[in-house]
Amino acid sequence: MAFPLSRRSMLATSGAVIAAGATAAAVGPAVAAYADSAAPTPTQALRRLLYGNELFASGHGRHPHQSLADVHRLAAGQHPFANVLGCADSRVLPEAVFDQGLGDLFDNRVAGNIADDLLLGSIEFGVEELGTPLIVVLGHERCGAITATVNAIRTGAPVPGHIAAIVDALRPVVEPVLNQPGDPVENGVQANVRAQVRGLIDRSHIIAERVHAGTLQVVGARYDLDSGHVTLVR
Ligand SMILES: [Zn+2]
Repeated sequence: MAFPLSRRSMLATSGAVIAAGATAAAVGPAVAAYADSAAPTPTQALRRLLYGNELFASGHGRHPHQSLADVHRLAAGQHPFANVLGCADSRVLPEAVFDQGLGDLFDNRVAGNIADDLLLGSIEFGVEELGTPLIVVLGHERCGAITATVNAIRTGAPVPGHIAAIVDALRPVVEPVLNQPGDPVENGVQANVRAQVRGLIDRSHIIAERVHAGTLQVVGARYDLDSGHVTLVR
């Protein structure tokens, strides 16, 4: 549904991307003006996500778009405004942490938020067929997949079953930052987010063409398990 923007909201949404951690009060009026827009810009989509996270992390989540009426409204088609590449972790549910609901996010989740060919195809589907203007790679604090990779590298112990495929995919990203200052798991989480952002653009002409045209933005982010806040990883 198209939603007319007031002059105030147009001015408010035409600026640069807001910094992570901006207050809900600062972005609230602009977000409200286009919250139901069917075709937000990448900047508007990112503002909407970060505003939703501010609500969630401050205990003021609205839990929107989760009624039976929303089920019926979306039955004929979907127009999610963001693609999320997230971890399978049960504590990092994109709809919850961004305060969104049915039809809002195109979730692609696997332990370690790694885009292999299947996940990349899924993300491209969201971009090409559904027109999402934003991709968020969402890593998180104390990620179990990153921790398992750090432990495997340090101990050399075999990794059981197909979990080895996850560790093997993360090993080239985690190994170079293992001995850098700071916590090795945290270093690995952030390095992996950056690597996945680069990889999506480098490996996909569908994504790269839209990024260069300005109709799609790919951003990295980190979810804090302790506070519930999402911050951008640059
Ligand atoms: Zn994880």
